[in-house]
Amino acid sequence: MEHLSVLTILVLTALNLSTVSIALPVIMGKDISRAAKLAQLSLLSQTIGWMAIISSGFFGGHWLDPALSTVSMAFGSLANCLMFFALCEWLGPRPYPRLLVGLAIAMPIGYVLVFGNYSWRVGYANLLFGMQLLIVARAALFPRGDASLRWRTLIALCYTAFAVANLARGVLGAFFPELYPSFDAPHVVNIVAQITANVALVLTTVAILVAWREEAEAQLREQAFTDNVTGLLNRHGWDDRATALFDQARRHGTPLALILLDLDHFKRINDTQGHEMGDQVLRMTGGVLEENRRSSDVAARIGGEEFALLLPQTDRSAALHVEQRLRLALREEGIQEPHMRVNYSAGLALLQPGDLKLADLMARADAALYQAKAQGRGRLLQAD
Ligand code: GH3
Ligand code: MG
Ligand code: MG
Repeated sequence: MEHLSVLTILVLTALNLSTVSIALPVIMGKDISRAAKLAQLSLLSQTIGWMAIISSGFFGGHWLDPALSTVSMAFGSLANCLMFFALCEWLGPRPYPRLLVGLAIAMPIGYVLVFGNYSWRVGYANLLFGMQLLIVARAALFPRGDASLRWRTLIALCYTAFAVANLARGVLGAFFPELYPSFDAPHVVNIVAQITANVALVLTTVAILVAWREEAEAQLREQAFTDNVTGLLNRHGWDDRATALFDQARRHGTPLALILLDLDHFKRINDTQGHEMGDQVLRMTGGVLEENRRSSDVAARIGGEEFALLLPQTDRSAALHVEQRLRLALREEGIQEPHMRVNYSAGLALLQPGDLKLADLMARADAALYQAKAQGRGRLLQAD
């Protein structure tokens, strides 16, 4: 194994990284999330780091040696921070952001200070890298969210392996400098460490691509669930979220109220003021529903000018209260924008033991809504 040249593996690492740093933005295109951008920048920063350390090897004794080495430490640390914040964007806040940034800032400063002492320098740099990498590895896995564990585990494994490789180099450099007189010394630990770095890089790239695909899938799912006129859930989204809430309420025996609303004489608005104004009225109605719902309520546009509101943990009087608030808010909008004035009829149904499926509850609310229309519109009726 000692016959392997570390410098060759190092150059391959840098070559792989620069290829990936160019290829990823080309493959992923411009329209990507902040998280994906940060991950790309992390790879680019790593590339610069490796290139700087390789270049420094050609300038032993020259001032460019410490300069390039320090640049390498700074960009390596920056790469770790960028990957950490990419994970935060993808998964939500992760532990130890300040510690990581602190270690990243301390890296080049301390490195310059101890540069004259080989053992200190190598021990210090690799210890700090090891700690940074372990923070990133931990960030991939904890705290857990519901996002896929597969690519996160992959990142965690890569960064842990990379951390161990760095720590091993640190120990070698700090305590056995005669065995490890330079970063490209042909020592077995050094060779294994560099191969590990290379493999970890390839797998990290795979993990980034998987994370990106998962993100795109989530976006598509979100789009498929969203009504593009009002921004509320559409029928598809309603079926998904409302069914989940319905099943939960039935399982726990908790109250659940459903209000179906249908705008009154909406066709007239379209006929007299045009379809675009009709859409604006729909948007306004959607806005009123969105503003007046609790975060646990589900609001959707389930048909042309029909809306649905599902209220968990809500009994009759609370549901009536919510509906009054909606009607008032809509009237308020109509006063401010008279040409958008609109009223609605509504049906209220409360979960009963006989409602086995969401459709049962909806059928009862719909019957009440039909009655409200028949009785002259502009009112709410409660289902039997
Ligand atoms: P009612 O009081 O009986 O509910 O009368 P209505 O006119 O509201 O009900 P009707 O079912 O007769 O007409 C609904 C209208 O809603 C017809 C359709 O053109 C309009 N509509 C459905 N979807 C949209 C939409 O996305 N945008 C607009 N502008 N109009 C829509
Ligand atoms: Mg209708
Ligand atoms: Mg209508």
